[in-house]
Amino acid sequence: LASSVEEAVQANKAKSVFLATMSHEIRTPMNGIIGMSSLLSETSQTTEQRSYTETIQTCGESLLTVLNDILDFSKIESGKLELEETDFNLAACVEEVLDVFAGRAAQSGIDLLYQIGPNVPEHIIGDPSRLRQILINLVSNGIKFTNTGEVFVKIVQYAAKPGGETELCFEVRDTGIGIPADKLERLFKAFSQVDSSTTRKYGGTGLGLVISEKLIGLMGGAISVASEPDKGSVFSFTIITRLGHKTVQPTTNGSEANLEEKRVLVVDDNLTNRKILLAQLEKWKMIPVLACSGK
Ligand code: ADP
Repeated sequence: LASSVEEAVQANKAKSVFLATMSHEIRTPMNGIIGMSSLLSETSQTTEQRSYTETIQTCGESLLTVLNDILDFSKIESGKLELEETDFNLAACVEEVLDVFAGRAAQSGIDLLYQIGPNVPEHIIGDPSRLRQILINLVSNGIKFTNTGEVFVKIVQYAAKPGGETELCFEVRDTGIGIPADKLERLFKAFSQVDSSTTRKYGGTGLGLVISEKLIGLMGGAISVASEPDKGSVFSFTIITRLGHKTVQPTTNGSEANLEEKRVLVVDDNLTNRKILLAQLEKWKMIPVLACSGK
């Protein structure tokens, strides 16, 4: 048994290596299809032709998402994925993710919020595009599985370790459909979704969380989930990182100093957003008054 398991593992690894090396050959024609159908949609077409073009575009895009997931998964499985080490601005990275989903959240009437804890370093050293990929997976799921309420991204610093290392904790919390307790363990298995109706209703490959978990592992962290059906889910993950060189100690510049002791009225119907604003305004030593409506 052991040797056939080992054989299967090796065979899978060989397939992963093969797919990972094929990635360019697979992505290039896909980009051709998507690019050309986009150009085609800008030409003059009959209503019927336009509807066919739109179908090619949406199918092309969903196929590309599936291919990207499979290629990423293969690359990780074959041990070929290496993380980049660059100095980057953490808030900018998170904001880029939220920008991607701002339109979709607004369309669904969901509030998309984020908060970065007070001690979280401005710049860290790591792989911004892979961190973005993890956050995109989690935020995209949050929005996909939430009908009303909010998706909230929070970053806190756990512990500054000796030698300049630091542990950050990211939390993506939603008020969506939630996940039953007995289904939680299957979330991080490849090609696995909570139930078979998920694919029909929401699409997806069941690879997003697996890829995220592997990337988080490569970043020295771990992911966990807490969820309650009909209440929502919280996906939390940690990463071990180092402080970026560009980190500057927060200084009180002129504009902040001018805000001190100033009164400010915040009107927002979202409680989480009021809390975020309260924390920020208090940090600036302002005197906020919060209200949940104009009335
Ligand atoms: P995909 O979303 O492509 O199917 P994922 O690995 O990202 O794959 O997610 C696997 C499954 O976990 C989803 O299909 C869904 O059933 C469940 N899931 C993930 N995130 C959430 C969430 N925020 N709320 C409810 N269910 C979720």
